[in-house]
Amino acid sequence: MVAGRNRIITIANQKGGVGKTTTAINLATALAAIGERVLIVDLDPQGNASTGLGIDRKSRSRSSYDLLIGDHGILEVVQETAVPNLYIVPSTMDLLGIEMEIAQQSDRVFKLKKALAERDAFQFSYILVDCPPSFNLLTMNAMAAAHSVLVPLQCEFFALEGLSQLLETVDQVRRSVNPQLDIQGIVLTMFDSRNNLAQQVVNDVRTHLGEKVYHTLIPRNVRVSEAPSYGKPAILYDLKCAGSQAYLQLASEVIQRERQRLAA
Ligand code: ADP
Ligand code: MG
Repeated sequence: MVAGRNRIITIANQKGGVGKTTTAINLATALAAIGERVLIVDLDPQGNASTGLGIDRKSRSRSSYDLLIGDHGILEVVQETAVPNLYIVPSTMDLLGIEMEIAQQSDRVFKLKKALAERDAFQFSYILVDCPPSFNLLTMNAMAAAHSVLVPLQCEFFALEGLSQLLETVDQVRRSVNPQLDIQGIVLTMFDSRNNLAQQVVNDVRTHLGEKVYHTLIPRNVRVSEAPSYGKPAILYDLKCAGSQAYLQLASEVIQRERQRLAA
């Protein structure tokens, strides 16, 4: 990574349960494993990324809420994780109220962008923002701050439903508050090869979206779903499982796309 430059990738989909948090945790771990210094910003009041990385609620005295409000700088809210090179700004339920608190402020969409523009944020080469499952002000902050959006899509019958709305939102953000915003890619998650429908969904999504879709398919894998209850990324819990291997592969695709972008 070029010194003083970081890449901010927002992981978004307004649907819940599609693999946003799992992707944030495991992609971040994979990037950290190859020596990148990575930060996850947990912007979901549910705090699943924080829990999944072993940060219990009691030790979240400072959180992404404080970062957005602007009372504390990034290094005051960041915490180490059990993964070397991986840091997190945890979230708390305080985030639920933030929309009301900042609604009247003219810079309400730019709170995260401002916080991540601080010099201290440049020590992280990748910043992944885990979004809540809606198009609220938190997601808008994440999109306004990002270089690109990574969209997890669950391999199910309704996968494409809602996607056009998501892509339209990205377009809208690009036109209004963040002209540089790009789609990093679309990752198909929870793929079950025994399910004929899943293969059909993969074909449909690839036909519709072409090169935007990563080659890597994330399989449905029980080890991946068990890992968060141990407060660990799947890659740490069981490196050899198919899910972990897929996330490592995804990381190399993400890096490749970022390199192409920087070279362009
Ligand atoms: P989101 O953040 O979009 O709401 P999550 O990442 O929390 O979605 O995933 C939803 C649920 O599906 C979680 O219980 C998670 O453990 C499980 N899950 C996600 N990806 C996989 C996978 N590849 N294999 C098995 N279970 C998964
Ligand atoms: Mg989540």
